[in-house]
Amino acid sequence: MTEDAPARPDGAERVDASFSGADRPSATIYDTCIRCGLCLPSCPTYLETMTETSGPRGRISLIKAVGESRLDLRSAGFAEQMWQCLDCRACEAVCPSGVRYGQLVETARTQIRRAVASGEPPRKRAIRRLLLHTLFLRPRLMRTVANLLRFAQRTHLIALAGLAGLARAAKLAPRVSRSFFVAADQCFEAPTPQGVAFLHAGCIMPYAFAQVHRATVRMLQRGGLSVRVPRAQGCCGAIAVHAGDMDFARRLAKRNIEAFEASGADVYVVNAAGCGSALKEYRELFADDESWADRAATFSKRVRDVTEVLDALELPEPSRSIDATVTYQAPCHLVHAQRIANAPRRLLRRIPGLRLVEMSESALCCGSAGIYNLTEPEMADRLQRRKVDAIRATHATIVATANPGCAAQVAAGLRAAGTVATVKHVVELLDEAYG
Ligand code: SF4
Ligand code: SF4
Repeated sequence: MTEDAPARPDGAERVDASFSGADRPSATIYDTCIRCGLCLPSCPTYLETMTETSGPRGRISLIKAVGESRLDLRSAGFAEQMWQCLDCRACEAVCPSGVRYGQLVETARTQIRRAVASGEPPRKRAIRRLLLHTLFLRPRLMRTVANLLRFAQRTHLIALAGLAGLARAAKLAPRVSRSFFVAADQCFEAPTPQGVAFLHAGCIMPYAFAQVHRATVRMLQRGGLSVRVPRAQGCCGAIAVHAGDMDFARRLAKRNIEAFEASGADVYVVNAAGCGSALKEYRELFADDESWADRAATFSKRVRDVTEVLDALELPEPSRSIDATVTYQAPCHLVHAQRIANAPRRLLRRIPGLRLVEMSESALCCGSAGIYNLTEPEMADRLQRRKVDAIRATHATIVATANPGCAAQVAAGLRAAGTVATVKHVVELLDEAYG
């Protein structure tokens, strides 16, 4: 039996494995759930299955049951529900009791991974290891893979990916940029600088969304911020946190904290919602580490999504109009985790000619969720189709969003449905409007 497992409240015999050691779901958090069910209509997996255990309330009950030694941590049903959850945090955003659901599911996954290597199915483990420990950690390897992928996409050799068992990854992969934008100690000066921004480059953005980085730099300059892109930064660790690999996430986080401290920048700007959410939560990631807690808390206070920054700056009026119907897909980690709902819409409404039409369920997860669309293909596809249907109903020709995962997932869904609408980052549209 696990040493730290608490006695069962009903006095019955304890199960073999409960939570133990660091990074466990907090009883203070799961006991805050009053089982009201107000979160259920916001939960994508509940809406798709209409099953209690596939919703937040059911998952919290499962976590509590393991915490109270009524359910074995290694049980298949527990692992299945922890991995089926998208960690989209929609439940957290609407909960009247303030249940911090993200902390529960992320630490529950960490506990499962530590308790039993087999707690994670082999296919998921292989994908996680390949992406996290191999690809995202080695920029040179990432560049080589991006070059190969770009060649395959341009020559249509991508159709052969199925022979290597990579058909799904090839289908979902974003189109690789013509020229990359990697962090290489670049300095972009504003004409009359009022501050300095650190631009978070990320793992995928430099290779598949380089144009978003360039647009971000130009927009920040227009707003009076000089921009630094230090080479010493790296992956934010979001995918590691979602995969329950907290120790690895901390390793990655330390690089970014050190890089920001050394940069002398005033604000840490992020144009990928998933990364921004993870970076703002370094404070929680290091809460129990005396030597890093203060540095992480100071760092997190300075992190801002680019839409927050631009919305707060005094920008001149855009000089060009964009004559198009646009709908906005709210990334979960912007709207639910960071609670930024209006800034992207306000920025879009500044653009002359642009007609912003709201889609239904704009804030419902599109099924991307980090590497969820690779590890949970069936549910990811269902949510992707649901999102594409909502977009098509608006007749928009452009889908605006603010996260690379959403952009890739929505674009793949639109392609599969034969819809010609394009997907752009809010900042790309703004940059176009400023000429
Ligand atoms: S809304 Fe909050 S308190 Fe109510 S069931 Fe969901 S998690 Fe529990
Ligand atoms: S994080 Fe998302 S998928 Fe998971 S329980 Fe909450 S709303 Fe449902």
